[in-house]
Amino acid sequence: KALGRAGWRNVCTSPSRLQGCMSAWVIDQYGTNGVLKYTEEISIPTVSSPQEVMIKVHAASLNPLDVSMRGGYGAKLLKLRRDPLSVMDSDSEFPLILGRDVSGVVVDCGSEVTHFAPGDEVWAAVPPWKQGSLAEFVTLTEYEVSHKPKLLSHTEAASIPYVANTALSALVNAGGLCRDSASNKRVLITGGSGGVGTFTIQLLKAWGASVTVTCSQNAEGLVRGLGADEVVDYTAGDAAEQLEMMEKFDVILDSVGGETEQWVMGKLKPWSGAKYVTLVTPLLQNTDSMGLLDGALSAVFTLNSKVTQNMISSGIFYRWGFYAPDGPALDEVSKLVDEGKILPVVEAQFPFTQVPQAFQKLEEGHARGKTVVRVA
Ligand code: NDP
Repeated sequence: KALGRAGWRNVCTSPSRLQGCMSAWVIDQYGTNGVLKYTEEISIPTVSSPQEVMIKVHAASLNPLDVSMRGGYGAKLLKLRRDPLSVMDSDSEFPLILGRDVSGVVVDCGSEVTHFAPGDEVWAAVPPWKQGSLAEFVTLTEYEVSHKPKLLSHTEAASIPYVANTALSALVNAGGLCRDSASNKRVLITGGSGGVGTFTIQLLKAWGASVTVTCSQNAEGLVRGLGADEVVDYTAGDAAEQLEMMEKFDVILDSVGGETEQWVMGKLKPWSGAKYVTLVTPLLQNTDSMGLLDGALSAVFTLNSKVTQNMISSGIFYRWGFYAPDGPALDEVSKLVDEGKILPVVEAQFPFTQVPQAFQKLEEGHARGKTVVRVA
């Protein structure tokens, strides 16, 4: 395939064709929706290292992180990640392209890329420290990219990578679950109706776990349709009380955070290796408000004290879960999708001309799956 790929590159992509400018939605400053700007004058992000893959974007999707990043969330830490040694000519991250999910077609590959060739249909979750997918082209390293499920359109495929990489990283690395160990484990997902929740329900069911979710009453049909075994309507009364009637859990994935963290801990089986994993962490907020060193130290202090407190009081593992780029993990998800075990949950679609409307939709909250932007 590697030999063939070199040949295809010569045929399919002449460098001159891919040089120049592309259209994209960018921000030149942080703020509300008004800062989103359409331009046709962004340089095409060509392959600049041997491991890189350049993708023509067909569809992108939005995550709450895009709305937060538009407002400056995580700016300090992400800037450090983009340019750790401050060697870039420009001190500015602008113009910044948002959009974390991509489904598209490979148009160029670096000389050491072995798994992809021009013409391959791929999907990926773009790390927040890289230029995003609300653009005609995006360039990623091979490791971040995966072949898209054959059964899905680009619009459907774009709804999955970021939440999939997040859920897998949180469940496997922090929650200690995997395909072979999840069978019959009782898992609670708070916020089951959103992007992360709708994906995670299906993944855990494919792994044989028993899945309980909290969500609003009008999302019950959706989450049951995706496989949830037990549903707690948090709008119908105290969710903690409703969960009290149920058997306790082995793992909780908390995608709501805030006050939920206070009461949900008591729903885990004590002294049994049970794990609480939250996706809502103060790390980026702290580094934004206190600076990199103080913010990171404060976050570590908070984490350590919660880990210790929960371990001493009830033998529960307290963990933070994070998105992590992982193409091979998406390969596994791709198989589950093609086996019909995971379905895309696309709540809303917008054309590329209406990216601000897509952000507005996300900002209104009450997601029921994902909001996708058709780019090509
Ligand atoms: P979404 O906006 O897609 O979904 C949130 C869902 O939670 C909505 O369906 C909402 O519906 C529901 N919800 C709100 N309040 C409650 C509540 N009290 N109890 C139960 N459900 C509730 O977000 P995502 O699923 O994409 O992400 C979830 C969280 O995880 C976000 O805070 C996000 O920032 C974070 N995240 C963190 C990552 C990390 O690396 N740490 C990576 C990815 C996400 P309704 O209001 O109608 O009930």
